Amino acid sequence: MSYLPENMPSPRPTLDDAPYWQACQERRLVIRYCEQCAHFFHPPLPNCPRCSSTQLTWKQVSGRGTIYTYTVGHYAVHPSLKGHPPYNVCVVLLDDADDVRLVTNVVDVAPEALEIGLPVQVCFEPSGDGTLIPRFRRRGLDTSARGERS
Ligand SMILES: [Zn+2]
Repeated sequence: MSYLPENMPSPRPTLDDAPYWQACQERRLVIRYCEQCAHFFHPPLPNCPRCSSTQLTWKQVSGRGTIYTYTVGHYAVHPSLKGHPPYNVCVVLLDDADDVRLVTNVVDVAPEALEIGLPVQVCFEPSGDGTLIPRFRRRGLDTSARGERS
């Protein structure tokens, strides 16, 4: 079961972000990294937004982060959300990717329990066509200890 309805449209990867989505299908979170100025950035672009270099690579990150900010949606911004309970849209600041923040949903926290700074961990949920979407769960003590990665 998915946090948002299964008939929500799935992402349509572009040349720039196809490797990001491909990694998600393997339950890995990768972020664009500039070798020239040693800096992560997102969303993926053909050039580094800081130094314009094209010397870019993808780096796998831990998927750990904290809620940077959030909102709770009560309106059906897409027809599939009609009658759906309120849902959050969260901005998650990743722990190990400079200032990269992902717009996402936190799937296991009630709207009134959301808070800035809450530790979270990526999880991958299938959309209606099976595409895995990166979302986040509250990070407990066990997952933070288990999630260590160099
Ligand atoms: Zn750069």
